[in-house]
Amino acid sequence: DVPNHGWKRVLLKLSGEAFAGGQPLGIDPAVLQHIAEAIKTAVDEGVQVAVVCGGGNMFRGQQLAERGMDRARGDYMGMLSTVVNCLALQDFLERLGLDTRVQTAITMAQVAEAYIPRRAVRHLEKGRVVIFGAGLGQPFFSTDTCAAQRALEIGADAVLKGTQVDGVYDADPRKNPDAVRFDRLDYVEVLRRGLKVMDATAISLCMDNGLPIVVFDLMGQGNIVRAVRGEKIGTLVSP
Ligand code: UDP
Repeated sequence: DVPNHGWKRVLLKLSGEAFAGGQPLGIDPAVLQHIAEAIKTAVDEGVQVAVVCGGGNMFRGQQLAERGMDRARGDYMGMLSTVVNCLALQDFLERLGLDTRVQTAITMAQVAEAYIPRRAVRHLEKGRVVIFGAGLGQPFFSTDTCAAQRALEIGADAVLKGTQVDGVYDADPRKNPDAVRFDRLDYVEVLRRGLKVMDATAISLCMDNGLPIVVFDLMGQGNIVRAVRGEKIGTLVSP
């Protein structure tokens, strides 16, 4: 049984797919409201919450490259799409009365602060939600890797990855009814079996630094709050 970890600062990774809800494209307001309310509950309980938004609901560099576009340019399009998601989330959070800051790895002063790690930590200490956009600002990386890196740099206790499934399985549970869910995994097992937790770069970064990862179903009632509290939920990848 995994105990309550009592995390003080967490990094919540939200995929672009989640923002779209059931739709292939765009942003579903019901999803954002659900996420924003959960983050408010967590912040009200005193947990410091930082967020990394993905952009897969709009553009992914690799998919654009498959259609002939220059990979790096496609990746920049992907990074910019994450910022759109950040602004949407910021709006829903602020409507609930939370203080927020968006920090982007590609500077766009009219829209967001630049990514300044020490300033991000200061915001968190003041109870503000910090939303990181534009990934790492570099092509060929993912927002999962960004989530791991930002978590490490701001000293978060864990990366919480909200997904469409309730944890990590040995096969795709949507296709294989016999798929078995893991309660707990170590990093090497994830890499060896090629399990869909985060990409290998992100997993390695977490492994090298002993950063726990929790994979859980983002939309389940009360799940985000449980994950943020460090209660047993989904799959825990840890040393
Ligand atoms: N991206 C990038 N560098 C980064 C982060 C993201 O180039 O540091 C690009 C990449 O093309 C990626 C896209 O932005 O496919 C959107 O991010 P991601 O696919 O990680 O979003 P998610 O799958 O979480 O929705």
